[in-house]
Amino acid sequence: MNYIDSYGLLSSRLHRRITKDAIGWSWSNEWGFTLPGEVQRVDAYEGTQLPENAFWHHMRNGKTDEDPDLAVAKYLEYVNISLAKCTEEGLARALHAVQDSFAPGHEDVQAWMGGMPSFRHIFGDVFPGANRYDAAVGASKNLLSAFKSQCSCE
Ligand SMILES: [Zn+2]
Repeated sequence: MNYIDSYGLLSSRLHRRITKDAIGWSWSNEWGFTLPGEVQRVDAYEGTQLPENAFWHHMRNGKTDEDPDLAVAKYLEYVNISLAKCTEEGLARALHAVQDSFAPGHEDVQAWMGGMPSFRHIFGDVFPGANRYDAAVGASKNLLSAFKSQCSCE
């Protein structure tokens, strides 16, 4: 699947950078090194491109014309459940979803039909703009502190 590889490479680089910036120099355990890559990899997880998993990326199922409020509720539940697992994968899933919510192609829980995203969507994922970028880093920082206090795994 060429497309998933190239798409993952583009948008995932950004996830990696946002996560790195959010961690800064403050995270002393080994996840400080592996977590950015794990957040990136969520775009390659099994089922990640399916419309019914659109909420993994702060989007809604376009095939069922899912209600945006329901999609947001699923997104929030997903972030909380993922965080509460206190695992690196759970944290990565939560971070990825929250970061996606700041990309122009995801912010209004757009309908996701699966398959190839539009050029604008990809473009937005790669170049979200400085304000969006900073906001995504800030939200990631908040998530990291929530994780630390919830899981006390430092
Ligand atoms: Zn994503």
